[in-house]
Amino acid sequence: MAPGQERRGGGSGDGSCKPAVRCHPALLSAGKASIRGVVDELLTASGKEKRVISLGIDDASVHACFRRGGEFTADAVSSAARAVADHLSLGADHHIGESDVFMTVAGTGAIWTITTVLGGSLGANILLPRPGFAPYEAACKLVGAEPRFYDLLPHNGWEADLAGMRGMADGGTAAIVVINPNNPCGTVYSAHHLLHIAETARDLGIPVIADEVYAHMVFGGSKFVPMASYAHIAPVITIGAISKRFMLPGWRLGWLAFCDIHGTLGHVRY
Ligand SMILES: *Cc1c(COP(=O)(O)O)cnc(C)c1O
Repeated sequence: MAPGQERRGGGSGDGSCKPAVRCHPALLSAGKASIRGVVDELLTASGKEKRVISLGIDDASVHACFRRGGEFTADAVSSAARAVADHLSLGADHHIGESDVFMTVAGTGAIWTITTVLGGSLGANILLPRPGFAPYEAACKLVGAEPRFYDLLPHNGWEADLAGMRGMADGGTAAIVVINPNNPCGTVYSAHHLLHIAETARDLGIPVIADEVYAHMVFGGSKFVPMASYAHIAPVITIGAISKRFMLPGWRLGWLAFCDIHGTLGHVRY
């Protein structure tokens, strides 16, 4: 089967079946989107007759003769990822490690990145909330994914219409986007509702993209529960940013945090 046409493995999460979650074919390890993909192809093609001599020097900045800028070191980037991982793990049911976090150019960068990665395969569609946050639709259009809109129900506290979600999903559905606390409706989902969303994603064999840019920004008796609390049911990719909660929109700092207890997203993160 060609890349991008892989069928779901049933979402059992035991890692023994074919990848269950769609990934942009150009980004799969067999592709040439990365140097690693090209080198892999060379190594495979070289066979036994010819030995490949690597003339690459790898990361030039590790050699003393190549000076790197003092301000942006690998430490700075990894300490940001570590800070995000620690922040998300605090009091959480599932630990998030530094390597689970990918720093992005603001929350918007996280939206574009994950839409490209999950929605880029042929015939993919992504389930988006309506009313919703416009950049998701724009990102879908850019990568050629079809946005499919599930309703937020005004008479149900703007909860997601889960039956509608199930009805519109098909073999091309790559992910469900859930914005909580919600923009634009302002609702904060209960633990119970988040559990039902996770169960829906599990039954469909897809991950939840949890936009938690407004995490912990709640009023009165509302309690924010991270979607990743249910990552043992379905994989969760959390979008966060410092623009709203920490009121630093100009820093353009955001992240994607993977909580993938059963390892079903290994090929997506590669
Ligand atoms: C503002 C916002 C973002 C994007 O955050 P930036 O860090 O400003 O790019 C993502 N999702 C929602 C729901 C938002 O309201």
